[in-house]
Amino acid sequence: MSPASTVGRWAPSPTGDLHLGNLRTALLAWLFARSAGGQFLWRFEDLDGAVRPQFYDSQLRDVAALGLDWDGEPVRQSDRLDLYRDAIADLRQRDLTYECFCTRREIAEAAAAPHGPSPEGAYPGTCRRLSRAERERKRASGRPPALRLRAGADGVGPTELTVADRQLGDYRGIVDDFVLQRGDGTPAYNLAVVVDDAAQSVTEIVRGDDLLPSTPRQVHLAHLLGLNPPTYAHVPLVLNPQSQRLAKRDGAVTLSDRLALGETPLDVLNLLLASLGFERVESVEDLDMVGQHFDPASLPRQPWVYEPPTPSPAAAQE
Ligand code: GLU
Repeated sequence: MSPASTVGRWAPSPTGDLHLGNLRTALLAWLFARSAGGQFLWRFEDLDGAVRPQFYDSQLRDVAALGLDWDGEPVRQSDRLDLYRDAIADLRQRDLTYECFCTRREIAEAAAAPHGPSPEGAYPGTCRRLSRAERERKRASGRPPALRLRAGADGVGPTELTVADRQLGDYRGIVDDFVLQRGDGTPAYNLAVVVDDAAQSVTEIVRGDDLLPSTPRQVHLAHLLGLNPPTYAHVPLVLNPQSQRLAKRDGAVTLSDRLALGETPLDVLNLLLASLGFERVESVEDLDMVGQHFDPASLPRQPWVYEPPTPSPAAAQE
C-alpha cells in the first residue's frame, strides 16, 4: 500500500491565534495527508522573535476542535537548533556561504540601482563581491553579519529553478543568495524548513501560496544538502473583500472570535468545508469521511473571499 508512505505536516508559527485562512490551510494539509492514508505531523516554527508562549496551546486546541488530528508529539524548531547548525556548518565548510553586512535599506537601494534592478525580492549579491580588506573593515564595525548561501556560480548572481507544484503546475522562480542564518545567529526560515522536512521524512508539503516564491530556494538548498525535496501543493489564501490577505483586523476571524458570536466549532468547520466546495458534516468526527473522499483535483484554484457576516437589523440598532 504505497500511499501509506505519505507524510504531511502543518508548520505554523505560534505568533497569534490562527484565523480562518490558517485553519483552512491546516484542513487542506490534513485532507491531503489523510486521504492518502498518510501521517500528519505538527511542527511549530518558533524561531521568529514574534513568538508568544500562549499560542502553542491555543493553536493546538483550535485545530483539534475542528476535528483534525496529528501523529506523535508536536515538535518545536527551538528544540532542534543543533540540526540547523550542523547543516550550516556543512555548507560553510564547502565554501557555499558568505557573510553579509547589508541592512534592509542597503539591499532595497542596491536592488533599485540604475545598472539594472535585480529580479524582484532577490539579494543583489553585494557582500559576495567584498574584497578581503572591505570584509575586515565591515567586521570591525561591529555589525554582526548574516550568513548567506552562495547560490549561483561566482559572478552569475541570482539564478532560477523550476519546481513542480501539484496544484499549480510548473513554477519558475528565483534562487538568490538567500539568508541561512540571521545576524543574531538564529537559523533562517528557508534553512530550517528544508532541514526539518527532511529530518521528519516529510514527503508532501501543503501550504499557502504566499510561500510559492520561496520554494525554488528551498529545493535548491535541499539538493545542495543531498536531501530529497518533498512534493509541493500550494493552496490559495483566504482574502478579505478588499482582496487583501485575511488578517485579524477583518473582524471575527479566529475560532475564539466565532465561538464568542455563538457559533460552534462544527459551524466553523462547515464554513471552511463549504469554501472548498464540500458538503456539510453533522459532527466534527465526520471529517474522517471527508478525508476518505477528498480529491485534490476538485479543489478551487481561486482564493476564497471571506465576507464577514452582515449584522442583523436588530444587532445594528443596538
Ligand atoms: N511557518 C510558516 C507559516 O506559518 C509555514 C512554513 C511552511 O509551511 O513551509 O507561514
